[in-house]
Amino acid sequence: MTTIGVLGLQGAFREHIRSVEASGAKGIVVKKIEQLDEIDGLIIPGGESTTIRRLIDKYNFLEPIRQFGKQGKPIFGTCAGLILLASEIDGSYDVHLGLMDIRVRRNAFGRQRESFEAALDIDGIAEQYNAVFIRAPYIEGVGEGTSVLATYEGNIVAAKQANFLACSFHPELTDDHRLTEHFVQMVEEAKKSLAS
Ligand code: GLN
Repeated sequence: MTTIGVLGLQGAFREHIRSVEASGAKGIVVKKIEQLDEIDGLIIPGGESTTIRRLIDKYNFLEPIRQFGKQGKPIFGTCAGLILLASEIDGSYDVHLGLMDIRVRRNAFGRQRESFEAALDIDGIAEQYNAVFIRAPYIEGVGEGTSVLATYEGNIVAAKQANFLACSFHPELTDDHRLTEHFVQMVEEAKKSLAS
């Protein structure tokens, strides 16, 4: 069975497990680097990117997660997870995993809109997708190999690049599992091609 790990250092990881299981895969909470060997794909959840980064360093996850991604294994970053995947963070010298060729802006929707919901069309994946945004980042620009999957009011809120998927919102907080299902498919395909 396809096993998907959810990085369980801080943030909304339990909800992701529920969404992974509703999408037909096995979900495990990843708290130790050895567990990366047991999983076919990894979700980095929302939360607070600076806090998650601090814990990534504390438990020596940075290089092992980079290697996991560089081997072609799929990683899905949601909200803070998107910030952790980015190669550039606006207004900051800090870069975390730097695996995805995207430039992000943190807390990009401003204080008036701390959290909100919007119906999005996600290219080739879902129409009228119910997206929950919480102190969300958006993507200001993407590199050549990265495709934009969704925008909201002209700002990029979902993108894909090879084995990496990222979104600004929280796909685990509703019963709309279409984006998680798409990630499960990516993981199943990568698993087949890495085995052959
Ligand atoms: N604002 C958070 C950050 O910068 C992300 C918010 C979220 O994950 N819901 O890390």
